[in-house]
Amino acid sequence: MLIDSHVHLEMPQFDKDREEVINRFLDNGVGLVINIGSNLDSSKKAVELARNHEFIYATVGIHPHESRNAGVETYAKIENLLKNEKVVAVGETGLDFFKNYSPRDIQTKEFIKHIQIAKKHNKSIIVHCREAEDEVLSILKNESAKDIGGIIHCFSGSMQFALECLKLGFYISFSGNITYPKAKNLREVVKIVPSNRLLIETDAPFLSPQSKRGKRNEPAFVQYVAEKVAELKMLSLKDVERNISRNIHILFGIGDYEDKPKTAYKIRNSLYLNITNRCTNQCVFCERETDPFVQGHNLRLAKEPGIEELWKEIGDPTEYYEIVFCGYGEPTLRLQLILDLAKKIKAHHGKVRLNTNGHGNLIHKRDILPDFEGLIDTISVSLNAESEMKYNEISHPGFEGNTFEEVKRFIMESKKYVPNVIATVVDTPNQIDIPKCERIVKKELGVEFRVRSYNVVG
Ligand code: SF4
Repeated sequence: MLIDSHVHLEMPQFDKDREEVINRFLDNGVGLVINIGSNLDSSKKAVELARNHEFIYATVGIHPHESRNAGVETYAKIENLLKNEKVVAVGETGLDFFKNYSPRDIQTKEFIKHIQIAKKHNKSIIVHCREAEDEVLSILKNESAKDIGGIIHCFSGSMQFALECLKLGFYISFSGNITYPKAKNLREVVKIVPSNRLLIETDAPFLSPQSKRGKRNEPAFVQYVAEKVAELKMLSLKDVERNISRNIHILFGIGDYEDKPKTAYKIRNSLYLNITNRCTNQCVFCERETDPFVQGHNLRLAKEPGIEELWKEIGDPTEYYEIVFCGYGEPTLRLQLILDLAKKIKAHHGKVRLNTNGHGNLIHKRDILPDFEGLIDTISVSLNAESEMKYNEISHPGFEGNTFEEVKRFIMESKKYVPNVIATVVDTPNQIDIPKCERIVKKELGVEFRVRSYNVVG
């Protein structure tokens, strides 16, 4: 199911065919939309639409363009509307220093007022920001908006602004403008926003995606935004839908998402086997204790799966690009299971990949790599750093001695038994020297080098 997190169906542009537009988005797989209020009248209409349609939710607030018209009674009425159970947030609020339809000092005052109202009613906020990144950030920080969170809607800002908003716990919502040929920088921002903080929207009737440019936008077109996000993040459309359903549920408590722990899950066209949550590292960027979800799949295992259960999940291995042994933990802790299952997968013409922290020899106190010959097609090892000191700082390995050197040796030796060997690092901000890691991997170890984005798992 697709979700459009920001629409204005109450606007006059939909007066002639509103119900047709609604039916059209339902027919196109959009199962939930959030209708945003931008002044008192539109907020009332948004609530009315939500009341009349199970799958429409509303927000109430005064857009910065209109903040010059808001008086004390307006806010009393907005607060009253907030009591409706279909109202999920306060907004759209924020600052627009591009059009400046309202004086800047009034916009600022009203933005602060929205945050205070949202806090009073325990709701999150929908933030509009245009040419006012520093000012928006400083207000969000000064007003402790982190406590309520919300959405930076129709994101069109800088990478730095996105990172700061993420630090404040906000979700970033992208719209049709990511499909525009000139939006190269914006597309780079899409790539770094973690899937668990990402939303999509149409902002209908505005900002039609490239393929519909010149036409009125409508929620059915959110599909084009979803497709672009999937392409940029190298995910499937289903992966994007799953992540967004979960994000909306966490933020607003509406809609549904699959919470059941998974022993096997699909990302793109590969099947990942979640075989353990135990690990011999404690990486600083690992979220398995705090948020065990990867691309919307719950990986917190109640118990480790056996071979029969996993084989049943796999079905026909040739249906997937590859079967990946991973887990939110270190898979080689279950070496025998890997070997037995890999044998079965290979006998059924499947491809096998192992994602590991490279501790296999330390765990089993012997060279386990010859066991992989003919069974593992690709091995991806987390090198994580350029030196022993950095490695220990980042990974906190559970072994005495120089684990970093052992991981390097593991990578080198893998080449003898596994056709494709990849060493990875995570671009943890300000923590590792990536060019140095690349030199070590390519020159010293002689394998493929890959940088994984910080905060992007799976
Ligand atoms: S190796 Fe992987 S599972 Fe283990 S702590 Fe590091 S990130 Fe988490």
